[in-house]
Amino acid sequence: MPPGVTIPDAQNIRLQLQIRGVVQGVGFRPYVYNLARRHGLAGFVLNSPRGVFIEVEGDPSTVDAFVAALPAEAPPLVRIARIQQTAIPALGESGFSIRESGGGESSFALIPPDICVCEACLSDTRDPQNRRYDYPFTNCTNCGPRYSIILDVPYDRPMTTMAEFAMCADCRREYEDPENRRFHAQPNACPVCGPRLLLGAPSNPVPAPISARSILEQVADILRAGGIVAWKGLGGYQLACDARQAAAVEELRCRKHRSEKPFAIMVADAGVADALCCVSDVERAALVSPERPIVLLRRRPDADLADGVSPGNPSTGVMLPCTPMHDLLFRILRERWHADAALVMTSGNISEEPIVIENAEAEERLAGIADAFAHHNRRIHTRVDDSVVRVVAGHTMLLRRARGYTPRPVWLGRGEAEVLACGAQLKNTLCLTRAGFALPSQHLGDLENYETLRFFEETLERMQRLFHVNPTAIAYDLHPGYLSTQFALRQAELRPIGVQHHHAHVASCMAEHQLEGRVIGVAWDGTGFGTDGSIWGGEFLAAGYTGFDRYARLRPVLLPGGDSGIREPWRVARSHLLDAFDGSMPAHPRWNSMASRERLRIVDSMLQRHVNTIPTSSAGRLFDAVASLIGLRHSVSFEGQAAMMLEAAADSGSGLSEAPYEFALAGADPIDVDLRPMIRQIVSALDRGTSTSEIAGRFHVTMVAVVTEVCRRMRDHLQLHRVCLSGGCFQNGLLVAGCLESLRAHGFEVFIQREVPANDAGISLGQVAIACEILRGES
Ligand SMILES: [Zn+2]
Ligand SMILES: [Zn+2]
Repeated sequence: MPPGVTIPDAQNIRLQLQIRGVVQGVGFRPYVYNLARRHGLAGFVLNSPRGVFIEVEGDPSTVDAFVAALPAEAPPLVRIARIQQTAIPALGESGFSIRESGGGESSFALIPPDICVCEACLSDTRDPQNRRYDYPFTNCTNCGPRYSIILDVPYDRPMTTMAEFAMCADCRREYEDPENRRFHAQPNACPVCGPRLLLGAPSNPVPAPISARSILEQVADILRAGGIVAWKGLGGYQLACDARQAAAVEELRCRKHRSEKPFAIMVADAGVADALCCVSDVERAALVSPERPIVLLRRRPDADLADGVSPGNPSTGVMLPCTPMHDLLFRILRERWHADAALVMTSGNISEEPIVIENAEAEERLAGIADAFAHHNRRIHTRVDDSVVRVVAGHTMLLRRARGYTPRPVWLGRGEAEVLACGAQLKNTLCLTRAGFALPSQHLGDLENYETLRFFEETLERMQRLFHVNPTAIAYDLHPGYLSTQFALRQAELRPIGVQHHHAHVASCMAEHQLEGRVIGVAWDGTGFGTDGSIWGGEFLAAGYTGFDRYARLRPVLLPGGDSGIREPWRVARSHLLDAFDGSMPAHPRWNSMASRERLRIVDSMLQRHVNTIPTSSAGRLFDAVASLIGLRHSVSFEGQAAMMLEAAADSGSGLSEAPYEFALAGADPIDVDLRPMIRQIVSALDRGTSTSEIAGRFHVTMVAVVTEVCRRMRDHLQLHRVCLSGGCFQNGLLVAGCLESLRAHGFEVFIQREVPANDAGISLGQVAIACEILRGES
């Protein structure tokens, strides 16, 4: 009998647990080790390509307590997707150990995202007696950079951008001690051995390293003087300026070529956020969450931010410091300047290009934007932009999924097929599958320029290497003009699977909630290529993973002049007017001032003669049209701007408590939702002098009534009672809250998207779900 093994206690049981999810490189093994020892259990924990294996042995009630505590008390980065339990014979073992993994096999591990600094590390950096006092790169097993610094698997220091920093004796001791918070923390570092901050200027070479505090004191002085600083954050460079100095904010807009799209701000803590914005409990939880996203918050009327931060928008995106470096800057600002500093904190890029990550690249590409640079010498391997969330009806919804979330997997569980999905065009993401998991990429951007396409290809290559994915099939959108579609069709060795845009939206929502069978899919967005070659976007689908029927749609109107129809909502407003008034414009001077006389004449003539127009059922374009009809906005500088203003107007008025406008359901296969009666009512309300906010409110009420009415019909005809709401329109808080309330009141089970955005960034998840199900059906 080998040492350490005795006759098994007859009472004892032994369990084998296979745990899948993000369980490697996140302090899970030492956690299990300490938990098992605390419970006095024997056995071991082991990493393997199929997840983490644990065997525990002891008396039944203690083993049960251990199994219950396992997910409940897990470290913050751990994400358990599944636990499989098998009872095996007790061995009479004593003691618990962390076993070395077998090695040799092709390894597949889920990698954790970059997570904000934890409270314990923050205390270290704030304590003058601690050896990490003021050290900007402090981290531990529970916090710090991960995805952005990992080059390859297995996740081990030599496979990260920390490889070039050799741990000092003190750091090494922490790293090797299973009871230390920094046990196997691959980015472990201290001022003696770790990365350092470097100060640069556009015209100057980077000078010799000086202390982090003195660099950030200089940064603080530049910000205070109204300057713009580019500094290297967790997933890329950020551009900062004082959010209270109008001239600084205007200068940043001008240099960054960003006319109106809101800037996010960063403040020291939730208390400062509270002073500037109304913060609910759920919003506060999102602000302080380890993912540290930008949270859209309603500004207080007396908030003293420059108007240029979020012009014409009642909300501002707010985030809290996510690294010790950010925290140190705010401490310095507090000491030297302003107790409640608010900094604009926006991606370090020009216009819509990918975020900059390299020191030299920053000095070159951001030279015309930043007055100074705060670099550091830890390389960012993978660019991950800041994430954006919004709380709607008590739910935190993702608008942009990147830092803090990516590469968190979504459990699909539809077979082992390895598939690549290429996403859409705007707000592109790609998605891969491996071992039953979907792995959505970070936000990549609009696939409209060479840099973003390169970012797409670079991300694909890196994710394939990291997760050992060799796709056999490629899923893509049906739109022939999308660069993602063209990329897919060039991959001759992969089996192509075309997926209709709105079907992908619905499947994405289904996949998130692991729904089977058929559902009512309400997919409302701006633009998606239909199976009939027209532009869809106001769709009611009876959908499963492998197919759908288009049960109803918004009755199509003509969209004049392609892309400019999207930038100029007045064009589609014109189309709705002509449609609702039998081909002639209603008489009122306001209709003559939507654009120049000449342009109005040309567009009316295009619409009347059906020249250079395309029919669309788009709900997004309808929101734009109504915003223009009531005079809020005739042209926009970014997608969704008019709809955002419409929502803000509705929220400020009394229209939300009014009855809906009239609409009709006509025809069949698909049913047309005829909104001409509503357009005529809106025009006469304008003629009577009704306020725009009241009309905007009643319009939202009408949209909720449309969704409810069509869903009821679908339930009556098809016996479906589960509704999936997806598409960019379902980021409108009033629409989501209204639909949730109304549909639930009518007995529907309603699902919205929370793990991936409801907009086109979520499409790649739907595409892989559909492709995997098709492949599973064939095998
Ligand atoms: Zn920590
Ligand atoms: Zn050290």
